[in-house]
Amino acid sequence: MDTVKPAVSPKNMCIFDAHCDTLTELKAGERSLLDAPAHFNVSKQLSYRRYLQVTDIWVDSGRHDVDARVNKNIDEFYRQLKLLNTVGAQAAEPFEVAQITDRCGLDAYFDVDGGRGKKRQAALLLAIEGGECIDADSRGPGADEGQYRFDRLHELFDRGVRLLTMTWNTPNAMCDTHLNAREPAGLTPFGRAAVAELNRLGIMIDLSHISDQGFWDVLELTRRPVVASHSDARAVCAVSRNLTDDMFRALIKNGGVTGINFCTSFLGGSKDIDRIIEHIEHFAGLGGVDHIGLGSDFDGIEELPGGIDGAESMYKIIDRLLRMGYTEGQARGIAADNFRRVFREVLPAGSEPGTAEKGVTK
Ligand SMILES: [Zn+2]
Repeated sequence: MDTVKPAVSPKNMCIFDAHCDTLTELKAGERSLLDAPAHFNVSKQLSYRRYLQVTDIWVDSGRHDVDARVNKNIDEFYRQLKLLNTVGAQAAEPFEVAQITDRCGLDAYFDVDGGRGKKRQAALLLAIEGGECIDADSRGPGADEGQYRFDRLHELFDRGVRLLTMTWNTPNAMCDTHLNAREPAGLTPFGRAAVAELNRLGIMIDLSHISDQGFWDVLELTRRPVVASHSDARAVCAVSRNLTDDMFRALIKNGGVTGINFCTSFLGGSKDIDRIIEHIEHFAGLGGVDHIGLGSDFDGIEELPGGIDGAESMYKIIDRLLRMGYTEGQARGIAADNFRRVFREVLPAGSEPGTAEKGVTK
């Protein structure tokens, strides 16, 4: 199989990866997203036609000073972005790194046949993994009456955060996690208010890591599609971090997408690319081929499946799907278009005239 020429090459491929931890995992002295010796970096991204990476700030109230860590890492994100674009402008083969914050920016980035299509371009979308980053809002003025001002959430929105993973593995003011379901399990009153505010602002709600009851509560409340940015199929590998078939079916109904996580303990069984395919096949078999994406968890996991070295290997998964008989459209959907569609429905419209009413088609 390996000697056969790949049917697809990165140069012709668009990727949308909904989760990586590279930003918070870069070691001192390796602090360039351009060429860090990591699973993900921008040089690897640039070998694809288009590659949008959701770039997470991981935070845990059990071990971090949450607000300080989030602020520091947002500063670091913008420092990196500026540096990357300075280097890109001077490079022999110039490149740009875009930050995606709205629908217009998302469309422009993936509009590869449009005016910007010829330039080498990478894209990042800033995300936070750990809802404790807005715990302060649960204690704010008006909290007694069940009214919340969401000052911190608005600040994070203004600073460009466009996806919030409701929990990591420690419960927060909004909800509990797959590891520790409280009584009553699921969303708190503050969590319920937060779902409405996230919907209103246009921040993507991410349900990876949340408790099962929390998942159901959000799906009942949300007026927008949601994602599980990095969660596999529990029927294939029975761990609480993965989605049950019923959860995935509900996600289909919601219009959402789950990103296949490459963590070998969530994939289970043999530790190679076949196992990734098995999870895709399972979800597709539930009628959800248009609701599957990639959520690698690059640099947040120790071990990668055999055949996957990092962002440079993403094309192999898509190549395999095409060889298995997935249509071009289905394969492109899993590679990028499914996440692209759901983010398009959720992100704020952006400033380009005439686009404000388009695209909200839930
Ligand atoms: Zn995670």
